[in-house]
Amino acid sequence: MTPPPLEPGCTLGVLGGGQLGRMVALAAARLGVHVHVFAPEGDCPAAEVARRHTRASWDDPHALDTFAATVDVVTCEFENVPAGALERLAARVPVRPGARAFAIAQDRIAEKSFLRERGVPTAPWRPVRSADELGAARAALGEGILKTARLGYDGKGQLRLHPSLSDAEAFAALGGVPCVLEGVVPFVRELSALVARRADGASLVFPVSENAHREGVLVRARHPARAHAAALAAAAGIARALAIGLDLVGLLCVELFLGPDGRVYVNELAPRPHNSFHWSIDGGAACQFEALVRAVLGWPLPAVVPVGDLTLENLLGDEVHAWSEALATPGARLHLYGKGAPRPGRKMGHLTHLLPAGSLPRGGLGEDLLSVPGEPGLHLRRGDAGWYAAGPDDAPLPADAVPARVRALIPGLDAGDPRAAGWEPDPRR
Ligand code: AMP
Repeated sequence: MTPPPLEPGCTLGVLGGGQLGRMVALAAARLGVHVHVFAPEGDCPAAEVARRHTRASWDDPHALDTFAATVDVVTCEFENVPAGALERLAARVPVRPGARAFAIAQDRIAEKSFLRERGVPTAPWRPVRSADELGAARAALGEGILKTARLGYDGKGQLRLHPSLSDAEAFAALGGVPCVLEGVVPFVRELSALVARRADGASLVFPVSENAHREGVLVRARHPARAHAAALAAAAGIARALAIGLDLVGLLCVELFLGPDGRVYVNELAPRPHNSFHWSIDGGAACQFEALVRAVLGWPLPAVVPVGDLTLENLLGDEVHAWSEALATPGARLHLYGKGAPRPGRKMGHLTHLLPAGSLPRGGLGEDLLSVPGEPGLHLRRGDAGWYAAGPDDAPLPADAVPARVRALIPGLDAGDPRAAGWEPDPRR
């Protein structure tokens, strides 16, 4: 039987103290819900905005029991909460999503096996538990990407193989731990689909996000995603079906590749809020964090109807120093996570831009035409040799006729597909 909804004034336990927990706590506070964070770190982004913080390690049974006694329901802001802690909590208080979703998302072998059982397309893959198994996997798949089965994130724990690396060297380079070898998907876009689901099965799927990564780390995302309606529908359908398959309560984000064949391939699952949907905070009636809070409390789910086009830009490391410039930009919303030193690659904050609907280039797979906001006199076309800038009559423009700002926006213009570099016109310029 579905448990009754919790009431405003209840306490939501959040496992993990990072920026995702911070944004969960902010959304909960707006709804009159208290947040108690459990995180081993002291001065963490989530604890700063939560009512309570238990600072203890994941294997401290007393701290876990005391935490469980103070909260009405528990959710997680990162997927690597140790299974033992989840089990201990789940014996005392509802944990949403539950341990099964985490067991699958924490282990790429379990994750890919689950996807295969469900008939969901992924990159071709093989489990690799030894250098010999790596040799066999390479013989079957060619030079792919070797990924540790556990504890990899943001491109960490991954190695792109090449012939000069022996099986033993490659396996040792990732620590000699269980891995998967994945074939490289020649994707034309990266997408993510997000579903919020309640215990009674009610669910909502967010509009699909289009994402760009640099060295495995998300740098930008946008709505609407440029993909055919069929691909978008497939992505959303997969997310919903997987949430049902996991009997998941909370949020499930599915990262996908859009292949040149127009099909979508699942890369990985995250049973929690996801960086690629931060644009939802500034884009409409309710965001992913509010959807999570409502889903785990059993409250009515929001309608997610973005009010315009949206872009998200992560502020990594020193990029955070541009905060003041960002604030001066019309339409930009700045989110800072209250972290200390901006180490290289560290997610310090993000910027969203809400633009009038129709501002961003549209187009499905196979598009050969992109417009550039603010440059009505030119557009970008794809020819046999890559992308080039063209004038209103479609004739290629000489390089000196292309404004420097457009050239600066698009590294490799005339030399390849700007989309491969995650190209996006920057609405601030
Ligand atoms: P992951 O940590 O698995 O999400 O990988 C980080 C990023 O590496 C992805 O967002 C892709 O840009 C790239 N990547 C990972 N796996 C593959 C693959 N099998 N084929 C192509 N690109 C990949």
